[in-house]
Amino acid sequence: MAKILLIDDSRLIAPVAKTILTKRGHEVILAQDGLAGLEAAKSERPDMILLDLTMPVMDGYQVCEKLKQEDSTKEIPVIMLTSKAEPADKVKGLEMGALDYMAKPFDEGELVARVNIHVRLKELREALEEKNRQLQEMANRDGLTGLFNHRYFHEQLSKDFLRARRYHESLSCILLDIDYSKKFNDNYGHQTGDVVLSTLGRVIEEAIRDSDFAARYGGEEFAVILYHADQPAAVHVAERLRQMVEDREIHDKDKMLHVTISVGVATFPHEEIRDSKKLIECADKALYKAKENGRNRVESY
Ligand SMILES: [Mg+2]
Repeated sequence: MAKILLIDDSRLIAPVAKTILTKRGHEVILAQDGLAGLEAAKSERPDMILLDLTMPVMDGYQVCEKLKQEDSTKEIPVIMLTSKAEPADKVKGLEMGALDYMAKPFDEGELVARVNIHVRLKELREALEEKNRQLQEMANRDGLTGLFNHRYFHEQLSKDFLRARRYHESLSCILLDIDYSKKFNDNYGHQTGDVVLSTLGRVIEEAIRDSDFAARYGGEEFAVILYHADQPAAVHVAERLRQMVEDREIHDKDKMLHVTISVGVATFPHEEIRDSKKLIECADKALYKAKENGRNRVESY
């Protein structure tokens, strides 16, 4: 069942079409001129519009053009209705964005069949758009942890950096690495390593705000972007995260494990940091320092 807006000034044919379509389970809204039709298209968000070509004041072409100019209505499929006595300029209508034509008076079967086809096409189109959205989303994600991936992290950070610079906002980057991960993988195997990584991904999500951005940066490395966070604020988050990881019991089958992380923090503005690449580089240097200074600690650049 679909919600159909019928814009038609004919007091004879419009009610008949409404009756036919209502009988088939569709909800039909009637508008008797172009202006009322445009209003209804905006307020009712119909699945489809049946649009009479010949109407006083504003004809079907004009209504169609206006529908296609408006963001909230431009995606709604439009079928033009023409009577045999008023031959339509079909090319013009199609150029205006109409999907199809139907001649009045209607054959009941044809009206129902065409409406159903276009409702079905609209559903398929929407399902496809949703699939594409999901695929796009998956392409930006790391399969194991569900966090964003390395490529998307760089894309995001370079945009964020430009914005932070333009609006003089502070922006912090955290890089963290699991301590002794090689020894860990050698002792327990990669399957356990995966459990550790996905647990760590969840801890990171718990530690940051929803508005912040977390990614799996590399094998055992993660990266976080903190918005509007100056250095003390970023170090505070990093330290909380480090503590949460240290405290977290990681269960894998019969084993219970603990890991620790080393964390590097870099914050813009900073006299040496002029682009997003440099921001990551500085966070990486701080991470290296955290490792050098004994691991399971936070250092900032
Ligand atoms: Mg008419």
